[in-house]
Amino acid sequence: MQQNCAATETPEVDIPALHAKYLKERDKRLRSDGQNQYLQAEDGFEEFYEGDPHLPVEPRDAIVDEIDVVVLGGGFAGLIAAHRLRQAGVEEFRIIELGGDFGGVWYWNRYPGIQIDSDSYSYLPLIEETGFMPKEKYSRGDECYEHAQRIGKHFGLYEKALFHTLIRSLEWDESISRWQIKTNRGDEIRARFIIMCQGPYNRPKLPGIPGIKDFKGHTFHTARWDYEYTGGTLHGGLDKIADKRIAVIGTGSTGVQVIPHLAAGAKHLTVFQRTPSYIYERNNAPTDPEWVKSLEPGWREARQRNFHNSGFAFYKPGEPDIICDGWTEVARNLAAKLNETNGWAAIADPVEFARLKEIEDYRSMQRLRNRVDEIVKDPETAEKLKPYYRNMCKRPVFSDEFLPTFNRPNVTLVDVAESKGVERITEKGIIAGGVEYEVDCIVFASGFEITTSLDRQFAIRPFAGRNGESLYDKWGNGFRTLHGAMTHGFPNHFATGFVQGGVTASVTRMYEQQADHIAYIVSTALERGITHIEPTAEAEENWVQTVRAKGYDNSLFTSECTPGYYNSEGEKNGRGFLGDPFWGGFYTFELLLQAWRDSGDLEGMEIRND
Ligand code: NAP
Repeated sequence: MQQNCAATETPEVDIPALHAKYLKERDKRLRSDGQNQYLQAEDGFEEFYEGDPHLPVEPRDAIVDEIDVVVLGGGFAGLIAAHRLRQAGVEEFRIIELGGDFGGVWYWNRYPGIQIDSDSYSYLPLIEETGFMPKEKYSRGDECYEHAQRIGKHFGLYEKALFHTLIRSLEWDESISRWQIKTNRGDEIRARFIIMCQGPYNRPKLPGIPGIKDFKGHTFHTARWDYEYTGGTLHGGLDKIADKRIAVIGTGSTGVQVIPHLAAGAKHLTVFQRTPSYIYERNNAPTDPEWVKSLEPGWREARQRNFHNSGFAFYKPGEPDIICDGWTEVARNLAAKLNETNGWAAIADPVEFARLKEIEDYRSMQRLRNRVDEIVKDPETAEKLKPYYRNMCKRPVFSDEFLPTFNRPNVTLVDVAESKGVERITEKGIIAGGVEYEVDCIVFASGFEITTSLDRQFAIRPFAGRNGESLYDKWGNGFRTLHGAMTHGFPNHFATGFVQGGVTASVTRMYEQQADHIAYIVSTALERGITHIEPTAEAEENWVQTVRAKGYDNSLFTSECTPGYYNSEGEKNGRGFLGDPFWGGFYTFELLLQAWRDSGDLEGMEIRND
């Protein structure tokens, strides 16, 4: 296992010329309807979300129940929250999950080729606690799903789970100081506390292409893969589509993983691409047993900190890059330059730092464009596959198989950038550039409700706090919380995810930080007989101001990006993917939360014991 990788060689670039090209490519794709171009998995598309292709939904009687805590979601965020509740001595809780098992994204997303895109050792939660070591640097989807099950078994969480159950409404009942929870199974559950662990990738969305309902062939979303139709498994071998013409819409992280398998199985594959992804080498490797033997307790925390420092825009002189992949390439290369030139002083000046980083960013992106030329034989196809935008405008993607797929005779790439997406879907297929492509099946690799409105993301209606106030109204113009965890007017309600908190390179580390805090508040409230806890309006306002004071204006960068969910499809004042974070530092935030908890006085909270 590498402990400190060298800078990656990158070519010289003409930044002004590339900048102009980037803006041109952005303009080509910008749409006036922004995020509204997408359809929700509703109004005839419910199956794209509520249908379960993996496990049958067993009939059961509706539950009428009262409990201390409901954890909404049984993915990693929910599992971590539940584990921490137990550690804090809270036992009366239920995990309510739409899937038929634990796993969240890893339960639902079982498409062929699914694999973690970032370091497994940093990403997979609770691995030291469960005595598990991933088989590879980048785990396959089944290993992630099995790990979620392992956590469930190891910590006795299955007995707490209510699977195949979707929370439809959440209403705070002031008269009994409880959340009234209704589900799609007719359940009526009252809970003192609700912890939202829905995750960012939970609701698939569909492209709002005219005629989408007209298609008479087969369709599904990648998050609900139909192996009945394709054959095979998530490791590939799609043996039922050898006589089928398949279309795939979408070439983001999911599309890139799926496309090589569809191409290998189908009679013909037509890939409709609006924006090319930037694709780093995958360079997966089995876990080295010698490295495992050398690990000391606490190695994982140290690795996550390294990923944070070396890869996540925070730079520390002398910090080695032990992650060594595309996530850390720009930082690694900049650090090497600063070492060579003895130039670390420059990072104290934000403008100079941004300038130096920008150079490495342009060079790295050029390296990836050159990589396309090296792999894809047809120059016209290669040109279409080149990403012209800055690093982190979109999510980095990793594959050694995607680009070679376009050298296959049974694969056609259709560039739909000029029309800002696929023009139309017909009974028989897809129209792009005025040409109709007849297909038997359309696979939507069109992503999730990530930065669309909260009402779309949660789809919990109503979601009402004290006095019936809607959370969607409360947060309509931006998050307002204390520490990202609680919001005034919504007693006993906790948020997790990207909401005014600290952000770091391993999302599960963020969930751990949040779960520690929430478990403390819940257990303290239960111990002290607190029936009602929420931030005061003043404490909330102070946190909003703290977040603002630490924030920085990234709008020039995002406005120059090609549209995607990272920049809310180019909408001005769009909701950022990272949810208005506290930029004072993830670990600084952790210390701040710890100090708040240590003081034991629940500072800034409005409390009632009636
Ligand atoms: P995505 O990144 O949102 O990609 C959606 C794709 O659909 C894009 O290529 C988009 O093109 C295309 N599209 C949308 N509307 C279209 C239209 N009308 N015509 C043509 N194309 C259209 O979704 P995703 O690939 O599912 O990934 C979402 C996120 O999930 C990732 O960014 C990542 O955070 C996570 N994920 C993680 C992993 C992993 O770790 N292994 C794997 C998969 C996903 P444009 O780019 O032009 O909008």
